[in-house]
Amino acid sequence: SFKKSLGQNFLIDHNILNKIVDAAELNEHKGALEIGPGIGALTEQLARTAGKVTAVEIDQRLIPILAEVLEGYENTEVVHGDVLKLDLQALFRERFGDMEGVSVVANLPYYVTTPILMKLLEERLPLEHIVVMIQKEVAERIAAAPGSKAYGSLSVAAQYYCEPRMVCIVPHTVFIPQPNVDSAVIRLAVRKTPPVELKDEEQFFRIVQGSFAQRRKTLANNLSALLGKDRREEINTLLTDCEIEPSRRGETLSLQEFARLSNAVVDKGWL
Ligand code: SAM
Repeated sequence: SFKKSLGQNFLIDHNILNKIVDAAELNEHKGALEIGPGIGALTEQLARTAGKVTAVEIDQRLIPILAEVLEGYENTEVVHGDVLKLDLQALFRERFGDMEGVSVVANLPYYVTTPILMKLLEERLPLEHIVVMIQKEVAERIAAAPGSKAYGSLSVAAQYYCEPRMVCIVPHTVFIPQPNVDSAVIRLAVRKTPPVELKDEEQFFRIVQGSFAQRRKTLANNLSALLGKDRREEINTLLTDCEIEPSRRGETLSLQEFARLSNAVVDKGWL
């Protein structure tokens, strides 16, 4: 039986499995971390392609099944646990220290997609690629360009850490059981150096969040809710100094503009 609460939708289409594995560009010198191996369909492909594979599965009932499916693959280990609670830095050191590069490859449980991605990125794990099957709508938000409807704080965060690329859209019919929504495979090439210089990363993300707080409001309005209503005039001046028109909406700002804005706010000491 499947556990809906754990986001268990198993992939049954070999064509899609191959697309996921190909997008990760693995070889015998590369490691792969899989999150949520389920009954091991993707894991087995990874075991055939990568130098080392570690798969983290939360559901105890699947552990013996995985052991059977993966029998004979000496390069592959299954860890029973919650990936959100795991010390991934230690796992990477101990398990993948001798690999030339490591990628995350997974058909993610949809109820925790964002927390898992943010954990992988914020911990600055030495990752090459993150190739994941996620809800199509979330993949579109991650890859969205400024000015588009899907563009939001998730887009800015993801694009600060990575270069996203859509690999393919996946219909819900290739899963058992079928989820209610379509999915997409997205490939995130993790950046070695940030695309913008930030004076304070935490404040940058607070400014970004604040700028999208109420999407129908102007940037100046959202910022004064965050930085103080009495600063309205000063905020307008600051935005103009940053060459950002105060009447624009947050959803039109590029990563570079958000960086300029947040660095200026840091200089003022307003946050
Ligand atoms: N990889 C398999 C496939 O493609 O057929 C299964 C993918 S299924 C969408 C998600 C898997 O993640 C399930 O096996 C589920 O038990 C597991 N899972 C859910 N939450 C998890 C967590 N916090 N940590 C590790 N695994 C988790």
